[in-house]
Amino acid sequence: MTNMMQFNILQGLCQSCKHGFPHARLLQTNFLAPLKSTLQRRQRIGQVHHRYVSSGSIEQANVILMGSPGCGKTTVAQILHRKMKMPIIDVDDDHLEPYWGMSVAQKLQEVGSKGFIEAEGRALLDLKASGSIISLTGSNPMHTPAMTAVAQSGTVIFLDVQMSDILQRLARMKVSRIVGQEKGTPMEDILPYRQQFYEKFYDIRILCEEYETPDSVADKVIRSLAVFKDNKGFVSTRSEGAQKKYSWTFLDVVLQGLAPDGGLFVPAREIPHFSGGEMRRLVHLNYPDRALCILERWINPQDLHPQFLRQFIQWAYDPQVFNCNKIFPVRHLEDNIYLAELFHGPTGSFKDAALQLMPHFFTKALQHEKGSWDRKTKYVILVATSGDTGGAVLDGFARHAGNCGVGVMVLYPARGISDVQRLQMTTMQGDNIHVVGVEGDFDLCQTTVKKIFMDPKVEEEMRTKFHCKLSAANSISWGRLVPQIVYHMSAYLDLVQTKVITMGDEVDLCIPTGNFGNILAAFYAKEMGVPFHRLICASNTNNVLTDFINTGIYDLRKRHVLRTSSPSIDILVSSNLERYLYHVTDRSADIIKKCFTSLAEHRYFEVPEEVLRTMQKIMIAGWCSEDQCSNTVNQILKRTGYLLDPHTAVGAHVSMSLNQRDRPLIIASTAHPAKFASDVLAFMGKKSLGLSASEMLVKLHELAKLPAPHTKLSSSISRPVIHSTVCSSNYSDIVSEVYKFLNRL
Ligand SMILES: *Cc1c(COP(=O)(O)O)cnc(C)c1O
Repeated sequence: MTNMMQFNILQGLCQSCKHGFPHARLLQTNFLAPLKSTLQRRQRIGQVHHRYVSSGSIEQANVILMGSPGCGKTTVAQILHRKMKMPIIDVDDDHLEPYWGMSVAQKLQEVGSKGFIEAEGRALLDLKASGSIISLTGSNPMHTPAMTAVAQSGTVIFLDVQMSDILQRLARMKVSRIVGQEKGTPMEDILPYRQQFYEKFYDIRILCEEYETPDSVADKVIRSLAVFKDNKGFVSTRSEGAQKKYSWTFLDVVLQGLAPDGGLFVPAREIPHFSGGEMRRLVHLNYPDRALCILERWINPQDLHPQFLRQFIQWAYDPQVFNCNKIFPVRHLEDNIYLAELFHGPTGSFKDAALQLMPHFFTKALQHEKGSWDRKTKYVILVATSGDTGGAVLDGFARHAGNCGVGVMVLYPARGISDVQRLQMTTMQGDNIHVVGVEGDFDLCQTTVKKIFMDPKVEEEMRTKFHCKLSAANSISWGRLVPQIVYHMSAYLDLVQTKVITMGDEVDLCIPTGNFGNILAAFYAKEMGVPFHRLICASNTNNVLTDFINTGIYDLRKRHVLRTSSPSIDILVSSNLERYLYHVTDRSADIIKKCFTSLAEHRYFEVPEEVLRTMQKIMIAGWCSEDQCSNTVNQILKRTGYLLDPHTAVGAHVSMSLNQRDRPLIIASTAHPAKFASDVLAFMGKKSLGLSASEMLVKLHELAKLPAPHTKLSSSISRPVIHSTVCSSNYSDIVSEVYKFLNRL
């Protein structure tokens, strides 16, 4: 028996094609090698990819074209047939009529419109093919069993064509009625209805531009298939050459956080790109739909299938949870300046954008981690917070990962955060969370967390006594970064939608920056094709990044952290900067290693001149003093009636002094002012001493009507305090708090 015959029997494929369809090219030599490696890879990936396991190697898989009537499947299939040298099966032309022994029209007459979908589905169930291009009918996806079966035989490509294009093409083809369409239902109604079936089954969406030619669509299919098959995974910013060969999957990096060599994970593939025409397709979509189209490009379907991604996104960006139906709207401030309001999430800072979605990635990753993980093993995410991260992590994991074996424990400086921030955490409900105040500052909390992570005794105790592992959710996590790319692109699309600009016009984008996560996401959005002219990196008095971007020198030798009214950017070691440097040095792990070794040893590094020039083409930087911050809040309030939070004010001051005003400017508004009520009241010369947090919010709203009060935030802090534990700064006291939590988790 030849290998190939074995393979066919293994796969249950027909030996000789009984319908004489042109997929006899099944026979390929040396197929076992790819089969083996693919199966190995699939085992590593786990069940996400169970659909492909039954279909053998990716090389033998079908390429299945799906989409509305008039989307161009047939033409694209023919071009693919030529270019990919794969046999082609057009279900309409090659399969149905010979299978039924009558024409489609006759069959339609025989069984009627409704019976036709069923008959067509049964015919598709009997289609046996591999290594072929299968062009489905427009109504095939309405038959779930048939569609599920055919999807298992390969990769389903959805030709997502704009409705107006489809209507024009159908009119040109003189098609006035499609299969399954009841008399009297207009085409404009049936096509959007059909969309839901296509959305259910695709592995890869091809976002077609308006009037895009079939040749161009076919090229996109080929490129997307290559990216899909390569699935290059992630590499560390610090590993060069041989080490690069082993790569991690998306779910691996979500779970791991930091790379084993101390570097940060970055995708090994090149940064995905959107053309202007593709972005135009997103203009009229709502936020979750935009998010899906954008994140699909970053996350390989073999790691996380779009069907999961869609579900996760819907759970994450739920208008019931956000304080605004538009999720992250853009608002005009004055002149040609706009605010991207990123604070409508449940805890009032932009961190919710990532932390409402990331817990879904995390629990998915847990389900797929094999070996060391079993049903009994729990994960505890240990977080030290200076304010905003804690609340967002707690809310995200309590809301979305309540009973998945993941707990969150947060350490905050008992006297170092705002009342609102503290109440957000101490009133948080959820069986899987624990919040502890520490008699010490943020640095102590941070150092303690790091120490716990490195402590072999704690590790052993956790493993043997509690079946538990530690994990982190800090902003270097790729799972937190990638959702942030979406809102930057979405802000640009909103300006196009409201006709402030036309697609392709350049705008500047300013971001108050601490750990460099938010602005790095903006860099990725720019690289993806969003026409951001300049990214403006705004700092407060902790202006190490301003100096670095202006001089190429990162120098901590004479610096210590200064406490400001914008505490979330009181940061000197800006972790995600490493990823930015990796990209601007054209992925030089060598330079990265030199820089960050030098930073660790000498608290100093300097980048080569040409790297500095590249950096400055993309980014400019400035900083804002405490006085300037307070003045900005007051002046903008007077001019516009809008109250900025101190971080956004840092961004506003810096961008207004650097932006040349000859193009629109978007300022990322990273927090709702209510979160920093006492500081903002102090800026306005109002006393807040003796006021409760809730009273401060009322007072704030009396003084400024905009932005509208964050009702979710206000009501969350009036819940009863549940977590009243405050513990000493003693290491063993804090560790015993961890064990106390594990006992009840
Ligand atoms: C976390 C935070 C920042 C800083 O974001 P990075 O991604 O660390 O640069 C800025 N503003 C607010 C309100 C924050 O909570």
